[in-house]
Amino acid sequence: MHGMTPLMHAACKAQVEVCRLLLQHGADVNCNKQEYGYTALMFAGLSGNTEITAMMLDAGAEKDQVNSVGRTAAQMAAFVGQHNCVTLINNFFSWARLEYYTRPQGLETEPKLPPKLAAPLHKIIMSTNLNPVKMVMLVKESPLLADVGALEKCYRVMDLLCEQCVKQQDMNEVLAMKMHYISCVLRKCLSFLRQRDHNLNALLKSLLKGRDGDGFPQYQEQFIRDVIRKFPYCEATLLQELVYSIAPVEIGNDPTAFSVLTQALTGQMVLMDSEFCATCGERGAEKRCTLCRMVVYCGQACQSLHWFTHKRVCKTLWQPSSQMDPAQLRELPDHDDEVSVTEDSSVTEDSSVTEDSGVTEDSGVTEEETASSLRELHLGPEVSEADASSSTCEASASSSTCEAFDDDVPMTCPAFPTDFHF
Ligand SMILES: [Zn+2]
Ligand SMILES: [Zn+2]
Repeated sequence: MHGMTPLMHAACKAQVEVCRLLLQHGADVNCNKQEYGYTALMFAGLSGNTEITAMMLDAGAEKDQVNSVGRTAAQMAAFVGQHNCVTLINNFFSWARLEYYTRPQGLETEPKLPPKLAAPLHKIIMSTNLNPVKMVMLVKESPLLADVGALEKCYRVMDLLCEQCVKQQDMNEVLAMKMHYISCVLRKCLSFLRQRDHNLNALLKSLLKGRDGDGFPQYQEQFIRDVIRKFPYCEATLLQELVYSIAPVEIGNDPTAFSVLTQALTGQMVLMDSEFCATCGERGAEKRCTLCRMVVYCGQACQSLHWFTHKRVCKTLWQPSSQMDPAQLRELPDHDDEVSVTEDSSVTEDSSVTEDSGVTEDSGVTEEETASSLRELHLGPEVSEADASSSTCEASASSSTCEAFDDDVPMTCPAFPTDFHF
């Protein structure tokens, strides 16, 4: 092909070091003099090399640039099935754009974003896993971020970025929606911190708690629907597409709001297969619940966090081929990479159903605004005030103490096997 620069050649052939060297020596990353208007980023995306793709983006590659037939780098990468590159390009957010807020602008005496918060916030922005559980975990793991004052500053910066994405010359609805989504997750963390959920465990459990019957995480679904509804720019085409995709779906059916949103923002299909951690949605989870063998986790932390709700459906998922008692089950050889059940755990929980009563994290679902907003946009079934309160208080009625804000509910539950391990 005519007009290829050395950088394009190197990207095309996935030569990482050559690309690095050329960029260090000032190669023009946005040159599109190639005969079909291809850029180095397009070649990087086509090659499927994520390191080179990231390098081009870091060097300032314009991801919205199009070739002679109007295709962006992400669209071209998607066409040849390089999905990791697509996700990378779609989720790229330059460090410089966030860093701008760490310096006082105009008449400001202090910056909108304290510099120490930029790194943990950037990590969340760049995350390609939009599972709200994962996002809350990212907040939780950063002591700087998991703080009322810090979260207030961060969500305001996210709102400003959202506005900027909408008002810039080439309106970027995808990025605007992502900024808005992160802002909403941060605000949710903030409201739980204010309710004395110091380690955000109650929020995590609210997001994970499966409803009676099928174990579907209803609160999480409603949270995401609500986030979409609250997107402040209602003329956005993306918002309308999301609403049309989600509105007719009854809560609990496919597609979930999470999968629709993920596909819109990252270009990735979320398949509810065994590849994704049942707790945080990370890809490549390999630890399997040995009882039901139906769910996988990335590690013990995720498994422990999920157990309070999974144990209620685990037994129904677990269908032994022959009648076998728990003692026999324990003698079955364990696979190296699987959860080994060393205690009677799930098999014998019937005797201790009472502790289920303490799980009352549904608080958020009953927020008046959620109920009314869902009615408003028809993003979900009507949630009457009565229904909402009865679903929340089912637990509080049977238990005088609210375990939602306990530090570590699963570990203190009498039925929770503390030595349940992988
Ligand atoms: Zn996980
Ligand atoms: Zn299980």
